Amino acid sequence: MGKIRLMDEPLSNKIAAGEVVERPTSVVKELVENAIDAGSNAVEVLLEEAGLTSIHIIDNGAGMDSEDALLSFSRHATSKIANEHDLFRIRTLGFRGEALASIASVSKVTLQTSDGSDGTFVHLEGGRMIESRPNALRQGTDIKIEQLFFNTPARLKYMKTLQTELGHTIDLMNRFALSYPSVAFKLVHDGKTILQTSGSGEIRRVLADIYGIAIAKKMIPFEGESQDYKISGYTSLPEITRANKNYISLFVNGRWVKHYAIATTVHRAYHTFLPLERQPITMLNIEGDPYLTDVNVHPAKQQIRLSKEKELMELIYQTIRQAISSAVRAPVIDEPK
Ligand code: ADP
Ligand code: MG
Repeated sequence: MGKIRLMDEPLSNKIAAGEVVERPTSVVKELVENAIDAGSNAVEVLLEEAGLTSIHIIDNGAGMDSEDALLSFSRHATSKIANEHDLFRIRTLGFRGEALASIASVSKVTLQTSDGSDGTFVHLEGGRMIESRPNALRQGTDIKIEQLFFNTPARLKYMKTLQTELGHTIDLMNRFALSYPSVAFKLVHDGKTILQTSGSGEIRRVLADIYGIAIAKKMIPFEGESQDYKISGYTSLPEITRANKNYISLFVNGRWVKHYAIATTVHRAYHTFLPLERQPITMLNIEGDPYLTDVNVHPAKQQIRLSKEKELMELIYQTIRQAISSAVRAPVIDEPK
C-alpha cells in the first residue's frame, strides 16, 4: 500500500491560512473585501485588542441564503468566478474562494447572514462546524472572528505589539475609504471610534477624514487618459511632504496595490518641486481592462502585474507633472533624458 494520502479539509485549509492570514489586518482585509463585493454601502469594523481577541464586521450588502452560508466556508467556494475565462476578467476584489475557509481554520467564527428572506446562523471552531440554524436578520452579513490563531500558537507568538497590529489595520481601512468614497466606513477599537467616513462619494472629504481638513485643501485633483488606461486622483502641493512612500496610495480597478515602480514615478513627476528624500501624499486611481492587470500573483492579492506598463508610467508622469506645474504656476521643464 502506498504512503500518500489526501489531507482532510481542515488540515489543508490551515496550511493555506499560513499564506492568506498573516495577521489580524489580513482578516479585516478579506472580510471588508467581501462586504464591498456584496455591494454594501455601509461597513462597520469593530476590533478588540487590535483584532486578536475579536474582529466583528457588519455590512448591509446582498447577504447569503442558507445554502451559500454553509458552502462559503469550503475551500475554493466562490460566487465570483465560474471558469478560466473569468480569471482574466476579474472585477471583484475576491475570486480565490479561500478566505473564509482559511480564516475559519485558525479562529472561532460566528456568521449571521441573510439575503432578505432566508437568514442563517453558523458557528465554526478551527474550521469545524459546531452549529448552524435558521436565524432572523435584516439583509446583510454580520461576521465575528474570535481568538484568531488560537490553534496556531507559533503564529500567535509572532504577533507584534497591539499598537503595531492596530496601525496596520488603520492603514488598511484608510485605503478602503479612499478607494470607495461612496461606502460609509467605521472602524472602532476597544469601543473608541478611529475612523468614520460619510459615504458621500467625495474623495476630498475622505482625504479630510484621514489627513485633516488643512491637508485635504492642499490636494490637487488630476485626471488623464491613454489608449489603455485612465487615471485620476489627488496629489499634494509640493509644500506638503512626508518622509516615506507610505502616503502614496495606489489603486488598480478599486484594489489597493503596492507597486514600487508606480510610486517612484509619482515621486519623479514632482521633479525639482520636491526635495529628493521627501515624498508627496497621493491617491491614484488606475482603471484599465482587467485583462491587462494580473492580480493572481500572491494569495493576499496586493501585488499586481501590469501589461503596457511603459504606457501607464508615461501617463502617470505627464498627468501628475502637469497638475503640479499648473498648481504652482511654474513653466513645465522637461526632465533631462
Ligand atoms: P471569495 O471572496 O474569493 O469568493 P471568500 O472565501 O472570501 O472567497 O468568500 C466565499 C463566498 O462567500 C463569496 O464568493 C461570497 O459569495 C460569499 N460571501 C462572503 N462574505 C460575504 C458577505 N459579506 N456578503 C455576501 N456574501 C459573502
Ligand atoms: Mg473574499
